[in-house]
Amino acid sequence: MDLVIRNASLVQDGELRAADIGIADGRIAAIEPGLPAEARALDAEGCLVVPGLIETHIHLDKTCILDRCRIEEGTVAEAVRVTAAAKRGFTADDIYARAKRTLERCIMHGTMRMRTHVELDPGIGMTGFEAIRQLARDHAWAIDVELCVFPQEGLTNNPGTEELLIEGLRRGARTIGAAPYFDTDPRTQIDRIFSIARAFDAEIDMHLDLADTTDGMQIDYVCRKAEEYRWGGRVAVGHVTQMSLLPPERFNAIAARLANAGVAVTVLPSTDLHLMGRNHDHAVPRGVTPLEPLRRAGVTCSISTNNVLNPFTPYGDGSLIRMANLYANVCHVSRPADLAGCLDMITADAARLMRLDDYGIRVGGPADLVCIDAHDPAEAISTLAQPLWGIKRGRTSFTRARPALHPPA
Ligand SMILES: [Zn+2]
Repeated sequence: MDLVIRNASLVQDGELRAADIGIADGRIAAIEPGLPAEARALDAEGCLVVPGLIETHIHLDKTCILDRCRIEEGTVAEAVRVTAAAKRGFTADDIYARAKRTLERCIMHGTMRMRTHVELDPGIGMTGFEAIRQLARDHAWAIDVELCVFPQEGLTNNPGTEELLIEGLRRGARTIGAAPYFDTDPRTQIDRIFSIARAFDAEIDMHLDLADTTDGMQIDYVCRKAEEYRWGGRVAVGHVTQMSLLPPERFNAIAARLANAGVAVTVLPSTDLHLMGRNHDHAVPRGVTPLEPLRRAGVTCSISTNNVLNPFTPYGDGSLIRMANLYANVCHVSRPADLAGCLDMITADAARLMRLDDYGIRVGGPADLVCIDAHDPAEAISTLAQPLWGIKRGRTSFTRARPALHPPA
């Protein structure tokens, strides 16, 4: 045994238990109370230990660009337009340096797996893809980063983009994304993405139905394609803010459709709150789709960060626990079981969305562990508890000091 974590609180078989965790060769070798072992010990002091957090949807390549973008309207169209203009000045070194800032913040907040969307189009070419791939390699000691190639500025209206997406998949990306809302022909973009995914045996993770009205929703069409291609379990859709505007009957019909088709949903609360509701001057809709009814219907759901410090989201610290707390607050989540569910959506459920088999706290599993300054999952979300330390493949990858009070003596 190389390391023993003492006095951890763990969720095992749906129950909170106290146990020690023995680690050998980067993997979990034993889980039991009072584990007899001579190895170096780390005391969790009764705090919650969870598997490394999972960010299923982020954009490292366009992070930290507020110094060169001005936000006037706060709409999706403006965000795409202003970011596209800034992108013309991106270089490999610039992308690497900005992305590194955000990636390291994510690591220090307990994230150990990540799917980052990378924009490919004739303007940026493979520059962003290669910079992020190098960054991922350089941080593999702390986080596993997966690249999802996608056409932010359109596919059918942007000749040369499809060839670049294919090149990204040839160079090792295992996921392809989409943004049909920014294509002159949304359905053809969706068709092309499914067809390319099948040719490369790739996962699909689309930006979908990001709008302020219920007009032109594509979610039913994506479910139909998932069934036609038998791609159930391999398709995720992000945002779906349009669903948040539907009355319960229509909402529940789509929930059942998603569950049957095996299409997962990611909500991006910070972005959705920032970009939606811009067509209202009072009683502004929140634009965040509630996930509890989707989960009850059997849909796999995750909560993610999306953008950090850019025109899509001029906020961000890389904290998934903060995102889960924000989501919970906005969507009226208050029952302890539902709050605990918010932690599931940045851990186990996010792993299912990304089809990560080698995940979770179990004997033989990877020693990817985060200690959170809380006693149970609901408290971790409701109190915005801080991660105290993380172990990646058996090695300490970050620590965070607790704040301390200094009362007069
Ligand atoms: Zn996104």
